[in-house]
Amino acid sequence: MSEVQEAMARTEIGEERQNALQLAQLQFEAAADHLGLSESLRSIMRSFARVIEVAVSVRRDSGQIETFQGYRVQHSDARGPFKGGIRYHPYVTIDTVKALAMWMTWKCALVNIPFGGAKGGVVCDPSQMSQSEIERITRRYTSMIQPNIGPDRDIPAPDVNTNAQVMSWILDTYSENIGHRALGCVTGKPVALGGTLGREGATSQGLSDIITLAVKHLKMDLKDLRIVIQGFGNVGSNLAVICHRLGCRVIGVSDVYGAIVNREGLDVPALMRHVAEAGRVCGFPGAEEIERDDLLEIECEVLAPCALGGAINRMNAERINTRILVEGANGPTTTVGDAILREKGVFVLPDILANAGGVTVSYFEWVQGLQSFFWTEAEVNDRLRTIMEAAFSETVQTAAKGKLSLRTAAHVIGVRRVADALMRLGLYP
Ligand code: NAD
Repeated sequence: MSEVQEAMARTEIGEERQNALQLAQLQFEAAADHLGLSESLRSIMRSFARVIEVAVSVRRDSGQIETFQGYRVQHSDARGPFKGGIRYHPYVTIDTVKALAMWMTWKCALVNIPFGGAKGGVVCDPSQMSQSEIERITRRYTSMIQPNIGPDRDIPAPDVNTNAQVMSWILDTYSENIGHRALGCVTGKPVALGGTLGREGATSQGLSDIITLAVKHLKMDLKDLRIVIQGFGNVGSNLAVICHRLGCRVIGVSDVYGAIVNREGLDVPALMRHVAEAGRVCGFPGAEEIERDDLLEIECEVLAPCALGGAINRMNAERINTRILVEGANGPTTTVGDAILREKGVFVLPDILANAGGVTVSYFEWVQGLQSFFWTEAEVNDRLRTIMEAAFSETVQTAAKGKLSLRTAAHVIGVRRVADALMRLGLYP
């Protein structure tokens, strides 16, 4: 049986958007098999320490009261406080949040920072809400999960459709409820409120560090890279800016509304100005508009999915035409999609490695907040690069030694560190 057939047998054949939790569980089991973990340890590690479901009732601007479903899932705190972003999106489900929480656990362990994994989400569509409605949702959601979060307990951060402003409201709500400012209760805050320099672009900075390392590893040249980026939010747009600055050609980008291409290279600073005004990439002069999802199939050296999960799957993986896939998004490649890419020889830099720059700089922010002592942007970026380099080389070595994909190797490192912590902790009572 080929790898692709095996992957199809393990998932539901024909399914385009694989359930994210199934994807995360299969990735965990592959690492656990390689490590020969006992069933006792696996049973702890595949479970979730705490799953919180809240009803977030808020008054809309119209006066009407509406109730939104909210979640906070805490997967593991074996290595430190729970840590993970908060997502506002109509497609948030409990399974997505669980998968994202589990990936956070392995990611923090892989880059060896003292956090566990968590994730939160509210099922809502911020594009249909005013800023004051988003503020009320944020404050109500924060209050409802407040007993289970805090600087030593669980530290939220931004994810899809949440940003530094949302983090400011979380900081304020949490602090008002306990009676004092608690800088360490959330990361991704604005610098004016105890955030760190470099956090806004941290995930993308880490992605570009990983691209640079991969390019060197593959004996390619940065200047020859044609880069395609799916998603033009925090991660995607900052990645475009950094790659442009490094002298690479960003030839195509997309957002939820559409995609644009210029094979000579997009003028990224001008594109940023256009997006700030128009709110979307389409309509940018000097680029051709194409079907949104066709963007993923453009010939390039680096493809960076930086939108949502399941983008590369059984339906399109065969037509992906890149040398390197660098996963800015969490879970962008399904089990079958991944097997197809491996057969095609694509160099896949998995999410828990590639996008770990965000949580790493969140860790720096947390440390600075707890000490009330702040670093320069150069210090932040240098420390980030050191961590990304160590994680990259450890992943490459583990893959070579065990004849594993980089994805399974990255999981093996993360899962092994968490298993070690669990064994040393013992079981209470
Ligand atoms: P964001 O909300 O800032 O941006 C998301 C972007 O994706 C938007 O431009 C949106 O239009 C676009 N998009 C949505 N659906 C799309 C589709 N079908 N096709 C093309 N574009 C689409 O979110 P973000 O913070 O940039 O996060 C993006 C991804 O990166 C998520 O998977 C997130 O979990 C992951 N991630 C984010 C961080 C972080 O620090 N923000 C860290 C690690 C990983």
